[in-house]
Amino acid sequence: MTNQLRIEGRVALVTGGSRGIGRAISVALAQAGATVWVNYQSNAGAAEETVALCEQTGGKARAIHFNVGESAAVDAGISHVIEESGGIDILINNAGISHDGLVIRLKDEDWSRTMRVNLDGAFYCARAVAKTMMKARRGRIVNMSSIVGEMGNPGQVPYVASKAGLIGLTKALAKELASRGITVNAITPGFIDTDMTAALPEKVREQYLQEIPLGRFGSPDEVAQLVLFLASDMSSYITGQVVGINGGLYM
Ligand code: NAP
Repeated sequence: MTNQLRIEGRVALVTGGSRGIGRAISVALAQAGATVWVNYQSNAGAAEETVALCEQTGGKARAIHFNVGESAAVDAGISHVIEESGGIDILINNAGISHDGLVIRLKDEDWSRTMRVNLDGAFYCARAVAKTMMKARRGRIVNMSSIVGEMGNPGQVPYVASKAGLIGLTKALAKELASRGITVNAITPGFIDTDMTAALPEKVREQYLQEIPLGRFGSPDEVAQLVLFLASDMSSYITGQVVGINGGLYM
């Protein structure tokens, strides 16, 4: 029996693949046989490290720079990938930022920058890959939402709104693209050990640790295995879903 978690010959684009969860996803997809394009915004060195890690697993990867929050840059970047690789089979909308603070202290720019990267970015990328996936009559799109998009979180109004928006985007797009054999799903990680959560105050980390039934934060590799499943043929009847990976923090 063939291992359907193998994705040999598939072309994947991972936005924000240079660090954290995106890096682990890039390595998992490359290890499973895909050619992985590792997108980044500012950290070229980290993106090249991800490429090297992908290659160490015997996989194929290349770095590509563009800001997901700039429509024209996304179109140009994705056209380049399609020209070089002949198409894109898997899009992982992973790039994300957060500007946290109490709502009364937030500036217009905190809101708009978060929306631009987290929500506009996913829309621009999905729109840019949709045509090539529709032509191929197959495709996998995975949107990186967050547990807080489901349950809310004080001090994170723009971030939470962007992540909740991604859930709506996922469901509408799943309905629109289903007839072409393209699945679209969102995943909602809880607290995962990355640069993003390292920035949390120690007190907040400890408080969350007490509330997580499994008693620990998750690892980027654990998230990457879920994404690999959703990117593979194993998940062929799953679309428009919001899949939690949170150690039981939200049920
Ligand atoms: P991270 O360690 O801060 O990494 C963020 C990644 O996004 C980096 O690769 C960064 O690229 C890239 N990026 C940021 N802005 C970008 C832009 N405008 N265009 C292209 N790439 C951009 O974050 P993480 O913790 O791995 O999180 C990854 C995703 O998971 C995010 O969407 C986050 O909201 C979500 N998430 C994380 C957690 C968690 O606990 N960590 C929980 C739920 C959801 P550079 O290296 O070039 O800066």
